[in-house]
Amino acid sequence: MARINLDHIRHAYGEKPKSEADYALKEVHHEWNDGGAYALLGPSGCGKTTLLNIISGLLQPSEGRILFDGKDVTYLSTQERNIAQVFQFPVIYDTMTVYDNLAFPLRNRGVAEPEVDRRVREILEMIDLAGWAKKTARGLTADQKQKISLGRGLVRSDVNAILFDEPLTVIDPHMKWVLRSQLKKLHRQFGFTMVYVTHDQTEALTFADKVVVMYDGQIVQIGTPAELFEKPSHTFVGYFIGSPGMNVLPAAIDGSAVRVGEETITLDYAPAVSAGAKTELGIRPEFITLSREGMPVSIGKVEDIGRQKIVRAEFVGKPIAIVVPEDGEIPADPHVTFDPAAINIYADSWRVGRE
Ligand code: ATP
Repeated sequence: MARINLDHIRHAYGEKPKSEADYALKEVHHEWNDGGAYALLGPSGCGKTTLLNIISGLLQPSEGRILFDGKDVTYLSTQERNIAQVFQFPVIYDTMTVYDNLAFPLRNRGVAEPEVDRRVREILEMIDLAGWAKKTARGLTADQKQKISLGRGLVRSDVNAILFDEPLTVIDPHMKWVLRSQLKKLHRQFGFTMVYVTHDQTEALTFADKVVVMYDGQIVQIGTPAELFEKPSHTFVGYFIGSPGMNVLPAAIDGSAVRVGEETITLDYAPAVSAGAKTELGIRPEFITLSREGMPVSIGKVEDIGRQKIVRAEFVGKPIAIVVPEDGEIPADPHVTFDPAAINIYADSWRVGRE
């Protein structure tokens, strides 16, 4: 398995890009560790597939280089890069049996038959198709065919990386959950470098060690699920991760005091925000307490989502969401307090740290 270096990658699909807006990837410069499980997460059109295709060799970047373990592979084909890929829709041989479909990538590489048999049986168990080994792929459901595709991606243990492009889209919800945990188990067992594209945050957060959040052709944060939740580095990450997302309010900083509308909140540090920057306060709905004391708020709609309630409210003239426990009381004269430790400050959309 390989360490992947994305060295100042930029990509524009058109012939002659005229401005930054013409770049599908604006500047991607990162190193992904050998054996890491990375999820590429972001909204439709943010550049996930473009980046994945550049890593796999299906696409050459307009600018920059890609290195595997320090070796420049920018102009090598997918095969030369020794990469396995699983796409959104099944890529299998309809006329072959399920067993032969899985054996193909191994036989193609000259792996000895006893080892082929051992690996294929292992994968058949994992994808829950052991009873179907002798069946021809043609007669299978879309769901089963996609499981074979997944199995073909996982069957070789000598690849540099395995790339997944929304591989569970056509799989039913229960099986999705099973396969995701199987993938995680396999990753722990074999430690392959995995890059997994999805726009589903649950999928990304449960599968990956590190989630790579993309927005508008850029990587805006690489972090563990906890880091993305607690310290979103960009207001977009705060909004995109979590349900509902982070509340973002216009703010002004004066030393360690944050002013939001008429209200002032004191932090235990003084955020260094340069003059003229657009300053905002970010607070997740889970860290706002609704009570009789604090800053006044007016309550709108209350959504009961089982173990919690989502309260839509207006604070300093802005809409906010507050999460309260199922049995949480909504006072007649409602006020809110923000947990100061859970407040993030943003300057021009980027988080300002404590340093
Ligand atoms: P999705 O989740 O919808 O697949 P994505 O995050 O994978 O989206 P990309 O498919 O990488 O995003 O697209 C990034 C940008 O590049 C988009 O603006 C898209 O319209 C554009 N794009 C993608 N493929 C091409 C292409 N072959 N020719 C021209 N523009 C393209």
